[in-house]
Amino acid sequence: MLYFNIRLTKSSLYLELAPMAAGKKGHIVMIPFMAQGHIIPFLALARQIQQRTTSFTITIANTPLNIQYLRSSLSSPNEIHLAELPFNSTQHGLPPNIENTEKLPLTHIAKLFLSTLSLEAPLRSLISQITEQEGHPPLCIISDVFLGWVNNVAKTLGIRNLSFTTCGAYGTLAYISIWSNLPHRKTDSDEFHVPGFPQNYKFHRTQLHKFLRAADGTDEWSQFFIPQIALSIKSDGWICNTVEEIEPLGLHLLRNYLQLPVWNVGPLLPPVSLSGSKHRAGKEPGIALEACMEWLDLKDENSVVYISFGSQNTISASQMMALAEGLEESGISFIWVIRPPFGFDINREFIAEWLPKGFEERMRDTKRGLLVNKWGPQLEILSHSSTGAFLSHCGWNSVLESLSYGVPMIGWPLAAEQAYNVKMLVEEMGVAIELTRTVETVISGEQVKKVIEIAMEQEGKGKEMKEKANEIAAHMREAITEKGKEKGSSVRAMDDLVTTILSPNKAV
Ligand code: UDP
Repeated sequence: MLYFNIRLTKSSLYLELAPMAAGKKGHIVMIPFMAQGHIIPFLALARQIQQRTTSFTITIANTPLNIQYLRSSLSSPNEIHLAELPFNSTQHGLPPNIENTEKLPLTHIAKLFLSTLSLEAPLRSLISQITEQEGHPPLCIISDVFLGWVNNVAKTLGIRNLSFTTCGAYGTLAYISIWSNLPHRKTDSDEFHVPGFPQNYKFHRTQLHKFLRAADGTDEWSQFFIPQIALSIKSDGWICNTVEEIEPLGLHLLRNYLQLPVWNVGPLLPPVSLSGSKHRAGKEPGIALEACMEWLDLKDENSVVYISFGSQNTISASQMMALAEGLEESGISFIWVIRPPFGFDINREFIAEWLPKGFEERMRDTKRGLLVNKWGPQLEILSHSSTGAFLSHCGWNSVLESLSYGVPMIGWPLAAEQAYNVKMLVEEMGVAIELTRTVETVISGEQVKKVIEIAMEQEGKGKEMKEKANEIAAHMREAITEKGKEKGSSVRAMDDLVTTILSPNKAV
């Protein structure tokens, strides 16, 4: 038997053959959507499955540049296998050599989603190659919920398909149900009910991204999301990066809505290591990890606010000014991962005019604030005892990373399911306070100062949020704990997932 690292190019396919480890029972092919917030948990899921059992060969398939990120995140080249699917961004109206949301302006994101449809033929070729080499098809394809078309590939080849949502259960349900049902289009009211949630749960129009607010089923976003979600709902089950005990309601509602098995295998967190986030996402932080840790070492426990809007989002120029003013007026220490404001090329250099005059120098000289260019060593910052709160867009990975260290959050949702995450963090978990929503709002420094001060209070609401965040962190630790026969909920879910993958596929 042979296993292989695979590289498909426009014209040919390269197989790097090597002896297959003994005892492998089958192949799992995984395919994430092309965004850091998806690729990072896919890699973490692949590692988790491998830690649970050595039964599988796992191959992650993606476009060449995303495979490059992944390759640099692996500690050994044979840890997980990688397959490059040919992709030419310019053929899809995208800038040259752009294959990931992170460097794309918002206006192009829909094109990136649509471009994923072109990966169907290369994915089919990859599956054929594996089938030819191993004498049977892969046991399972684990695909991103956004890539519903993979379900067609799997069904026609008689392979089990599981959808992986890199979001939490509550946020996933709100996201898929709002896209599938467009409930806000059926009322003039700002508040509306979302199918799948109890009748008394109301969502607000301002929690929707402007593309979704305007969606009517005929626009390019609807035309991608509505059929892709419908296809993902036809897969054989969903894997969710969450924990039963922290999201009991969300998981219950999601299972009811899908009528499919949902495995809660979270929190899928990348390992914290001295080599920092380079080894997680193949990205170089804008500051040396050691320098960042030394800066945090100077600060008191729970005294620093960490600010980051994830891997691809940014705020407006006026909001950036207000945030800087509020931070300065609050006197609270902070680390802020800065990017050019909304509307500017996200890849260009940051210029001082985007911040109040002399802000950067004052913060540096007084050691009050650390500005980090574009990418910060997030997990390491959150794991440091000086970090007291996280001002975040509340992307799900950021939520899990923050709560796993008991760090409460200040929510500023910008896109995707982030506003629903914040709703849950505030209403269900009590671990967050919302500062504002989207890039469209006008906020003042005064507002920023007030909310940050509440979150950092050693008494009252700040203390309550901290205590609840610590409880959630304890639940997360328990979920992945295994003591003899006693297994946490996520360990049990992972065992069940592996058993299901190894069981005969009824569809064959
Ligand atoms: N991240 C990081 N440094 C940064 C920004 C993001 O390490 O400066 C990582 C973060 O730890 C998380 C991921 O990128 O794992 C962002 O995922 P999330 O779901 O929070 O947001 P998204 O980028 O998908 O909007």
